[in-house]
Amino acid sequence: MNKNNFKKENLYDILIVGGGPAGSTAGYILAKDGFNVILLDKNYFPRPKLCGGLLPYKTIELLTRIYKESEESLIKNKTFNFISKTYKLYYKKKQILKNTTETPFYLVDRSIYDTFLLSKAKEAGVKIIQGEKVEKVNEILSEVTTLKGNKFRAKIIIGADGVYSVVRKHIFSSHGDLDKWKTNLAETLQIEIKRTKMFHDLKDISIYFNFINYGYCWIFPNKDKVIIGIGGLHTKNKKKIMHSFANFLSILKINLKDINNIKGYSIPFGNFLLKPAIGNIILLGDAAGFVNPLIGEGIFYAQRSAELASLAIKKNFKKHLDVQNDYIKLINKDIILELQYSTKLRNILFQKIKFVPVTIIKNLLNSKNHAFLELIQGRRSYASTAKKLSGKYKIKL
Ligand SMILES: Cc1cc2nc3c(=O)[nH]c(=O)nc-3n(C[C@H](O)[C@H](O)[C@H](O)COP(=O)(O)OP(=O)(O)OC[C@H]3O[C@@H](n4cnc5c(N)ncnc54)[C@H](O)[C@@H]3O)c2cc1C
Repeated sequence: MNKNNFKKENLYDILIVGGGPAGSTAGYILAKDGFNVILLDKNYFPRPKLCGGLLPYKTIELLTRIYKESEESLIKNKTFNFISKTYKLYYKKKQILKNTTETPFYLVDRSIYDTFLLSKAKEAGVKIIQGEKVEKVNEILSEVTTLKGNKFRAKIIIGADGVYSVVRKHIFSSHGDLDKWKTNLAETLQIEIKRTKMFHDLKDISIYFNFINYGYCWIFPNKDKVIIGIGGLHTKNKKKIMHSFANFLSILKINLKDINNIKGYSIPFGNFLLKPAIGNIILLGDAAGFVNPLIGEGIFYAQRSAELASLAIKKNFKKHLDVQNDYIKLINKDIILELQYSTKLRNILFQKIKFVPVTIIKNLLNSKNHAFLELIQGRRSYASTAKKLSGKYKIKL
């Protein structure tokens, strides 16, 4: 032990704060690449995580690429708890569309999904300490201190600690991008109910527009339960979300007063950082604001940012201060471009036209190639779709 109270055995190549999809995926890849990795999470797994748990096809491709898992293996080991091939869109109460898709949507229970990913990281050799909450990050010493007073150091520190990231707060507070952080948070509320008579045969993903500004409501079927939620940009729905949720539930004949498991959490909804790395400290997933600002999807971006960060670390580890430049370059080309165009699409749908334009959505979903669906599944880019849409409907991006 030295005079800074630091035990030499607590020195690692990589230290990851947070064991959600972002942190576990980075840990898995980097440990497989031979790095000495430690991951700290404040919770004990399986831990609850408020989420709709919907995975588009691009996430299955990512799981195959990284973990060599397939749809079949993930069904067999019960990682997926439901698969849906039908989706419905509503405009308030009125159903405007019902379609079937060749490429299904997958639903996961986040406590199971995240425990699965964390166990993969452990198998790959990551040292995992649960119940260890990081409180401070010291950039100069490259060290974190936990609530229990333990200190850990590493050449590279990865902040994968979610929307309220401590790593981001400590290191990136002087970063200009942080100004817009709070103004671009979405509020959500969600309940889970058992499959009752009403939901007995429910197999489709249902999306409801126009109960909330800059957002939507959802009903996602699971094997034994149904997930019902609402989410929208906080600044556009000040203090109204509970009221909007009650309105939505009333059309399902559910009285909010009878519900005792209502939960809420924030989503970074357009506050992605353009430079999510400083020196040897980098941010992934929700900590960097990598959530799709149009649909609120973040699991894919959490895992994709982990994949890109691992590439940058592997390439530059010997000159580890160069990791930041490479990571920022990769992220900008891949994730940020998509999130920027997704924001533009959101503006077309919610701002320029003031309400969700039913005809545009219907046309996109009904088009020969199911353009909107391909977009969400990851088979078409947000950039090209936004450009086409702006041309077709003469809307300035
Ligand atoms: C209501 C709701 C519905 C959603 N639905 C979907 C959906 O259907 N599909 C989708 O793709 N996305 C959805 N999202 C978004 C998705 O949940 C996130 O984008 C995703 O969880 C981000 O993963 P992450 O690993 O970056 O962070 P997280 O999953 O938040 O993981 C962060 C981890 O860090 C740990 N941690 C936090 N602070 C500390 C600390 N100080 N010290 C140590 N550990 C710490 C936490 O315990 C946690 O395990 C939804 C979000 C909400 C709120």
